[in-house]
Amino acid sequence: MIGLISATAAGAAARDRLAAAWPDRTRVYEGPVGEAVRAAFAECEQVVCFLATGAVVRLVAPLLGDKATDPGVVCVDEGGRFAVSLVGGHGGGANELAREVGGLLGAEPVVTTATDSVGLPGLDTLGLPFEGAVASVSRALLDGEPVALETELAWPLPALPTAPDGAYTIRLTDRAVAPGEHEVLLRPPSLVVGVGASKGAPVDEVLGLVEAALADAGLSARSVAELATVDAKAEEPGIVGAAARLGVPVVTYSAGELAEVAVPNPSDAPLAAVGTPSVAEAAALARGGELVVPKRKSRRADGQPAMATCAVVRRPGRGRLAVVGLGPGARDLLTPRARAELRRASVLVGLDQYVDQIRDLLRPGTRILESGLGAEEERARTAVAEARQGHAVALIGSGDAGVYAMASPALAEASDDIDVIGVPGVTAALAAGAILGAPLGHDHVSISLSDLHTPWEVIERRVRAAAEADLVVTFYNPRSRGRDWQLPKALAILAEHREPATPVGVVRNASRPDESSRLSTLAALDPATVDMMTVVTVGNTATRDIAGRMVTPRGYRWQDGSQEEAK
Ligand code: SAH
Repeated sequence: MIGLISATAAGAAARDRLAAAWPDRTRVYEGPVGEAVRAAFAECEQVVCFLATGAVVRLVAPLLGDKATDPGVVCVDEGGRFAVSLVGGHGGGANELAREVGGLLGAEPVVTTATDSVGLPGLDTLGLPFEGAVASVSRALLDGEPVALETELAWPLPALPTAPDGAYTIRLTDRAVAPGEHEVLLRPPSLVVGVGASKGAPVDEVLGLVEAALADAGLSARSVAELATVDAKAEEPGIVGAAARLGVPVVTYSAGELAEVAVPNPSDAPLAAVGTPSVAEAAALARGGELVVPKRKSRRADGQPAMATCAVVRRPGRGRLAVVGLGPGARDLLTPRARAELRRASVLVGLDQYVDQIRDLLRPGTRILESGLGAEEERARTAVAEARQGHAVALIGSGDAGVYAMASPALAEASDDIDVIGVPGVTAALAAGAILGAPLGHDHVSISLSDLHTPWEVIERRVRAAAEADLVVTFYNPRSRGRDWQLPKALAILAEHREPATPVGVVRNASRPDESSRLSTLAALDPATVDMMTVVTVGNTATRDIAGRMVTPRGYRWQDGSQEEAK
C-alpha cells in the first residue's frame, strides 16, 4: 500500500490524482501532517508526501530503522514539478515509485542513488540476496574500476560492466563461503531441499536436519529456493515451520508424481505411509537438477527413531528470454515495461537498425548480437541458444515483436527449459490508426502482402475473405522494389466490394522523424507512392472521411441512436 499525505490545496489535488489513478494501491492519510506521516510510515510499504523535502526529512528522521524494511518515501513539491526519491531508493522501491509518480503527474523524477543515476544496476536490484562489501564494490563499478564477475553456476543476471582481473569481485555462488574483503556474494535460489516428516515432527528437528545437511555439504541456506515435499505433508507443522524460519515457500507434489521420479535411495516406509518410495529425494528432484545431498535422517538426542528426512538438489539457472516490442519508433511509444526488460537483459539480439533505436537504454556491459535484414531465423536461434545457456536475453522487434516479427520463430525454437516473457509493443496498424483518425473503430484485420514466406494464393484468399466480410484491412509489407503488383491486385479485390470513394489511409514511418500520412480513396490511391516503410489501411463500407480524418463508425445501430454500444 502507498500512503498519501498532503498539507495544501495544491498538494491535495495532486494527491487525489494519484489516488484516482491507483485506487487499489493507495491510501489517503488526512489530519495533522506529523501524525499522518508516522501512521503511513508504520502501515505502508511506500509513502508519497506532497510536502517539502525538508519537512519530510524532519518528520521521518526519528522513524528510520533499516533500509531493507523502511518504506520508500517520495516527495512531490507544491508545484508538482518534481518527484523526489528521498529514502529507500532501492529497498523501499522509492526510485521506481518516483518514476511512476512522475509519469502520472507529469513531474520530473529525481533519483540520486549513484548506481541509478549513471544507469548501472545497484547490486541490490539484481533480485538476489547478497552479502559482503556492497558499498565498496558498487563504488568500484561506478568509478569504472575493474570488477570481476565469477559465476559458479549459470544464472540470468542483468548486464554488469565487469573485467576479468579486477581487484573487486562479484561472486555468484550457493556455497557456504565467506565474502572476501573486496567481494560481494550473490546468492542464487538454486537449492531445493526435499523433506519428509512423520506426523508431529518438531520444527527444530526438521530445521536442524536441513541446516546440518547444508552445512555438511558446504552450501548456503541463503540459496535455498524452497522446501519440497509430498501433498499429504503440505500442512505438517514441522515442515511449514522450518520453511517459515528459512523464509522459503513449501512446494508439494502428489505421491503419484513422486513415485515416478527415479531416486538413489527408495524405501518401504514412505511407500506404506504416503504411497511413494521416496519423499525427500523425489520431491527435491521432481523438477530436475543434480542431487548434491542424498537422503539423510534427523538425529534425535533421546535415541528415538528419526522423524524427518531431507535431500538437497541443485537446479541449474533457467535462462530468460524476453521478446520485446519496441513500438513504431518514437521513444515515448516504447513502453516502460519494454524499457525495463531491455535493462534486465545481459544479451540483446536484434536487427541492427532496431538496436540503434535503443542502444542508449542498455546497461553498460550488455552483450549486443546484431545482424542485418533477412537473418530472422538465425536471430531467433541465437536468442534461444543464449537463453538456454542461462543468460537473460532480450530479443527485440519493431512495433509488436509478435506481429510479423521475431516472437514466433523464436518460440518455435524454444523448449520448456527457459522462461519466456513477452512484452507487447504498439504495432504499426495502431500507430498509423491514431495518425489517420479512427479507422479501426470496427472489426478489422491485418494482412501482410509479403509473399516471401506465404504463397500468393493464400494471401489473395484472405484479402477476398476480408473484402467479403467488410473488414477494415491494414496491409503490412505492402510494396517493395521487387514486389509491386501485389498491392494493386489486393486493392482491386477490395474494390469489387467497396465504393471507389472508400477512404484509404497511407502512413509512412509512423512516429519516426520523417513521418508522413495522407488520406486517399480506393479509386485515387497511386500504389507507386507506397513502400516498405508504409502501412495502408482500407476502410470498410461505412468508413468516412470526416474533416480530413478517417473514421470507421462503431456500428450501424449506434448511428440509429442506440446507445447500447456507447462505451
Ligand atoms: N512487428 C512490426 C511489423 C513488422 S512487418 C509491427 O508490429 O509493427 C514490417 C512492416 O510493418 C513494414 O513493411 C510496414 O508495412 C510496417 N511498419 C512497421 N513500422 C512501421 C512504421 N513506423 N510506420 C509505418 N509502417 C510500419
